[in-house]
Amino acid sequence: MTNPMDTSASTAINLVDCVVVGSGPAGGAAAYHLAKRGRSVVVFDRDVLPRYKTCSGGVSPAVGAWFDFDFSPVISKTVNQIRYTWKVGDPVDATLNTSEPMWMVNRSEFDHYIVQQAQSHGAEVHGGTTVLGVKFKGDRWLVKTDKGDVQAKYVIAADGATGPMAKWLGFGDREVRMGAVLEVPSQDNNPNAQFDFGIIKNGFIWCLPKAGGYSIGTGTFRGKDNEDLKDALLEYASLKGLNITQAKFHTHPMCLWTEDQQLHTRNALLAGETAGLSDPFTAEGIRPALFSGMKAALAIDGSLAGDSQALANYTTIIQQEWGQDMIWAQKLANIFYRVPGIGYKVGVKRPSATDRLCKIMCGELKYADVANRALKRLSGGLIPGLG
Ligand SMILES: Cc1cc2nc3c(=O)[nH]c(=O)nc-3n(C[C@H](O)[C@H](O)[C@H](O)COP(=O)(O)OP(=O)(O)OC[C@H]3O[C@@H](n4cnc5c(N)ncnc54)[C@H](O)[C@@H]3O)c2cc1C
Repeated sequence: MTNPMDTSASTAINLVDCVVVGSGPAGGAAAYHLAKRGRSVVVFDRDVLPRYKTCSGGVSPAVGAWFDFDFSPVISKTVNQIRYTWKVGDPVDATLNTSEPMWMVNRSEFDHYIVQQAQSHGAEVHGGTTVLGVKFKGDRWLVKTDKGDVQAKYVIAADGATGPMAKWLGFGDREVRMGAVLEVPSQDNNPNAQFDFGIIKNGFIWCLPKAGGYSIGTGTFRGKDNEDLKDALLEYASLKGLNITQAKFHTHPMCLWTEDQQLHTRNALLAGETAGLSDPFTAEGIRPALFSGMKAALAIDGSLAGDSQALANYTTIIQQEWGQDMIWAQKLANIFYRVPGIGYKVGVKRPSATDRLCKIMCGELKYADVANRALKRLSGGLIPGLG
């Protein structure tokens, strides 16, 4: 992808502390924390806001601690019951033994709400505005959009798995895998989140309830991308007896974590899926997007205040607080999705395992705390006598 700023002459308007590209959870969190600290910030999103994002919308309640506003207006449902199944049969029910239930959100509402909180602190938000290129000139960025240009001291690339910013800023190609969601309207009042193994090879299906329906998501975590995501979701919905006449199918790439990488360059940071932070075992991406957006804002605030190491420290913080645990998530994914039948039997079906997985998803436990034992059990299932 070429960066049009390399060739075009632009007339720049105004100078702001930071331009944030993308208004998803990473961009929204970054804008909020910058604006709250009195920094001038402009957010661009190519979609008209609020916008739909292909996502099941399961959010760890742990994220609430990073914001000083109340998320309850945009929590569609809370869930503390989980049902695991193998091809919709052989169910295992678990109750979340966590301090708060999981949040189920509609992304169009959730993401826009965060951006509106940023606006209330002075952030300028332009939906329906595509960033066409960026160029560093002198001591600032020139950000070219289809509605005009802006100059910024710093840039945060939060343009997600399909955005061009990482490439324009000189970062290498990221590995993307395809994910899909079937949105099924329903008047059921099912309180369970459901996770099904066995229908999709090298991955799983997650069926999350919202007020008014289910967001049934899937994706794969190893091997070649599965091209039959739609068939798998339709098979699941039909086995569950759901009425799919009004269902809508969406696909979207995911940037799962593969390895720690540098996330800063001259006066610019990558956050959220642009930084490839989604969990390679579960595809959880909202929590790391919010976390990295917040940390990116703090780093830029520090840099504006004269801390010359602030941007480099951002890379280190994300590696230490997220990347190190993702190494374990990736190890688990590599073995679990290779032998999901064994994983279901020796892992998912154990009450203690479900309890731990729930705690990981709620941010109350790290993979590092449990992965060694889990890997041993999975290997024990493969190698009789071990584990
Ligand atoms: C099928 C599926 C199911 C998922 N389910 C879950 C789940 O249940 N829970 C969970 O935690 N995670 C889930 N995820 C992951 C989660 O959706 C993402 O990790 C999350 O959206 C990443 O947030 P972000 O802010 O980094 O990027 P995004 O939310 O993708 O936002 C990026 C924004 O940048 C904008 N943009 C792109 N290019 C430009 C440009 N040139 N100019 C201006 N704007 C631009 C886009 O329009 C977009 O609004 C799922 C993902 C998939 C694919």
